[in-house]
Amino acid sequence: MKPASFDYYSPESLTEALQLLEQHRDAARPLAGGQSLVPMMNFRLARPALLIDLNNLRELSFLNVVDGELRIGAMTRQRALERSAVVATGWPLLQEAARHIGHIHIRNRGTIGGSIAHAYPSAELPLAMMALDASFLLRSMQGERIVPARDFFVDIMTTILEPSELLVEIRVPQAKSRTGWGFQEVSRRHGDFALAAVASVISLREDRNDRTMFSDIAATAAAELDTESDIHASSEYRREVSQVLARRVLEEAAARAAI
Ligand SMILES: Cc1cc2nc3c(=O)[nH]c(=O)nc-3n(C[C@H](O)[C@H](O)[C@H](O)COP(=O)(O)OP(=O)(O)OC[C@H]3O[C@@H](n4cnc5c(N)ncnc54)[C@H](O)[C@@H]3O)c2cc1C
Repeated sequence: MKPASFDYYSPESLTEALQLLEQHRDAARPLAGGQSLVPMMNFRLARPALLIDLNNLRELSFLNVVDGELRIGAMTRQRALERSAVVATGWPLLQEAARHIGHIHIRNRGTIGGSIAHAYPSAELPLAMMALDASFLLRSMQGERIVPARDFFVDIMTTILEPSELLVEIRVPQAKSRTGWGFQEVSRRHGDFALAAVASVISLREDRNDRTMFSDIAATAAAELDTESDIHASSEYRREVSQVLARRVLEEAAARAAI
């Protein structure tokens, strides 16, 4: 299918993009890598009257470390996470999560900010950002605010982003000492969306670390999940697999933290 007709703007600066969003609000949608928005438009699941293309905004494409904190521009491609030596050393969970996104050509175009703003429930990056206690810098013509990942995601494909706001930067804190991570997912084929994906970050205490509680934690977490059935898997299957993966990522993280 082809999308409904729309107007297209390609601003040359962040300020120009924000002005366009302010002017057109609900009628406009930012276009990042287009790997989710364009298919949705083709299926007429999204019908924006106006696309504001962010691809010329070089100021939103960066990956650097400031005072030990990883800072990522929203338009940085997902592939950059995989290829960064800095990420591999300091934030390996992000690299592992990125590797599970679709296929290389998707990750070459898809952006980190686009994945987070899209808030798809099987997406790896929102999950990793929650586990790593990341925060997001949102900007509009009215100003900016920093929102922790746990407050940003509201529901399936719903975030607190206002129509006039852009996600401009992702901030991921440095890991504490004796901290480990785990990431596991199950999908039908490599590159498919996850049927279940689980991430963990654990900091070990010096005095007492009781790993026998991992099974209980995994069971509690799985019980709280709001899983759904679809053509790919039943709700019960997703819950069961999530519990198994949760126990595994806790053990994985504890082992890494103890090294
Ligand atoms: C075949 C295929 C397989 C895929 N498999 C996976 C997978 O396994 N795991 C996975 O996580 N994803 C997968 N994806 C989706 C992919 O990761 C997308 O790149 C991602 O979901 C959206 O990023 P994007 O840069 O393409 O954003 P777009 O598609 O351009 O935008 C997505 C949404 O976010 C909004 N948006 C984008 N950037 C901003 C911003 N800076 N501020 C505010 N709003 C913004 C847009 O308006 C739109 O509503 C797959 C896609 C395809 C086509």
